[in-house]
Amino acid sequence: MAAAKLQAPRGTFDVLPEEALKRRELYRRTWAVLGRGGYRPFDSPAFEDTELFKRGVGESTDIVRKEMFTFEDQGGRSLTLRPEGTAPVCRSYVEHGMHKLPQPVKVWYWGPFFRHERAQAGRYRQFSQVGIEALGSDDPSLDAESILLLAELLEAAGVRETTLKLSSLGTRDSREAYLAQLRRYLREHEGDLSEDVRARVEQNPLRAFDAGHEGTRAVMAGAPQLLDGLSAEDSEHFAEVRELLDDAGVSYEVDPTLVRGLDYYTRTVFEFESERLGAQSGVGGGGRYDGLVEELGGPPTPGVGWAAGIERILLASETRFPGAPRPVYVAIDESGTRRAAFGLVTALREAGIRSEVEQAGRSLKGQMKHASRIEARAVAIVGEGIEWRDMDTGDQRPVTGVQEAVRIAVGMNG
Ligand code: AMP
Repeated sequence: MAAAKLQAPRGTFDVLPEEALKRRELYRRTWAVLGRGGYRPFDSPAFEDTELFKRGVGESTDIVRKEMFTFEDQGGRSLTLRPEGTAPVCRSYVEHGMHKLPQPVKVWYWGPFFRHERAQAGRYRQFSQVGIEALGSDDPSLDAESILLLAELLEAAGVRETTLKLSSLGTRDSREAYLAQLRRYLREHEGDLSEDVRARVEQNPLRAFDAGHEGTRAVMAGAPQLLDGLSAEDSEHFAEVRELLDDAGVSYEVDPTLVRGLDYYTRTVFEFESERLGAQSGVGGGGRYDGLVEELGGPPTPGVGWAAGIERILLASETRFPGAPRPVYVAIDESGTRRAAFGLVTALREAGIRSEVEQAGRSLKGQMKHASRIEARAVAIVGEGIEWRDMDTGDQRPVTGVQEAVRIAVGMNG
């Protein structure tokens, strides 16, 4: 019996060189944008104590209820592959006493995340996120700044025509009062709600706004709105965020039903959507989480941040990212030696020239074909001497040696 074909696990994928080049280029642009904004790079482990996400993301969320890759290590500890990046940053802030640093502490991260979701286009079980977090200040300019940085990053990535949705969830207290009101309303209309929503009226009534179920949607059209119940302070904070965005010329829709799938948000929440993505339209989003650090055992510390999906950014991008520069190819004639060819390719590389050398035992004819295939801009043919062939013009002439070959290659760059 033939062995089962080995494939990448469901919801995962290989990043082949062409795609990997785009990612590296996006990484470079991301670094430039976020670095200018005063954010410094940060990495956290790929797995954490399960407890961190239970406390940090929230027991009632889809992520914690059904999407975590949780396993026991050999010492019997429960660990979880990180499903998101904010709780780890907050854990690190507490662990390293970062409240003693100048505030706010601003970091950005980029790396793999894991959620056991139903895999489909734009939704994977291992995906990559870029994100930022600013901890230690509740200044509304941080909310506005973080939104602007995401807008700038999307622009730099060639993601155009996005919609920015914006809302405020208020602080814990005003939210609790609102949630009680919403629960009362949902119970009054229990008969029209989907089973799923009904089962979660107590735990997470906000999710009712997300429901696709027709009866539920009809009920939610008349539901009390969170934005109407904000405290004066929260309203003022939200107004200042909007004012700064208006001044910066960023357009947005205030969407009072915007609910994000994580429990920790307070005050500002936002999401960028792209029509080019179809059903999985969210490119990136985030918000303020003023209670999270304290929840994880740290001092009361406000925070704000976002995460965006790298795969979704690349899917939505209209940019043709530049590929690798065309190489110089070093071919070996019958009269040439491997040693001489290897010496030339090494000299070219030392001079900063991307170059390749024959390494597959091809005839000279086969090598010239190969050079076209890899789109070489020139071929240096090593025989008794060195011939230089410009692949665009077809001109071929002898050169005096390695030095001249390198000089020509460098000259072509300029
Ligand atoms: P979230 O952490 O849920 O707020 O997600 C932030 C962003 O990460 C989303 O807007 C998506 O772009 C991306 N994302 C989240 N989950 C997935 C997934 N399963 N597959 C691909 N991208 C994802």
